[in-house]
Amino acid sequence: MLHNQIDLEFAEREAWALRRQRGIPNNRRLWVLACMDERLPVEDALGLRLGDAHVFRNAGGLVTDDAIRSAMLTTQFFGTKEIIIVNHTECGMMSATGEYLEEILRSKGIDPDKVEIDPAIPRLKLPKGGFPKWIRTFSDVDETCLRQVDLLRNSPLIPKDVLVHGYVWEVESMKLRRPDTRLGERVNTAKAMAARG
Ligand SMILES: [Zn+2]
Repeated sequence: MLHNQIDLEFAEREAWALRRQRGIPNNRRLWVLACMDERLPVEDALGLRLGDAHVFRNAGGLVTDDAIRSAMLTTQFFGTKEIIIVNHTECGMMSATGEYLEEILRSKGIDPDKVEIDPAIPRLKLPKGGFPKWIRTFSDVDETCLRQVDLLRNSPLIPKDVLVHGYVWEVESMKLRRPDTRLGERVNTAKAMAARG
């Protein structure tokens, strides 16, 4: 009967809308940290559909204070049991140093030592010369990915039974891989030569 169907749809919509109030976790009990880059289709890469995961994206896919804040909330309060970090090749965070970015900002009349980094906490300022550390550009995506995994695994705010894994998305092949498994790097880079001795 039609009214039964309408009632069922209403109940489903209500359950969807009130998930958080009712303590229902996302479908996969998953939190994803990924770079904001438009070449990284994070949902497609991980096979995620609407409702499956909490997804946090920032420049680089780095474990910043707000990433930890969000990871803490999802794992401690919203039933999340697994974390996946996705960094990617050709990331913009590898294209310049923090010192260079600071120089550009200063040339635009912005002093990174004086700027408010969180409007809700006006007293929160970067220590003098702290901008490069805060902006956190990097030079090796594999190393960075492994480091982010460690940072979350060792964070006192994340429960110890939460699984944390990292992947690198290759923008050139449009595929995910584990960090430190790039064939090209193992065969023809100075790093690979040094490792072989
Ligand atoms: Zn990026």
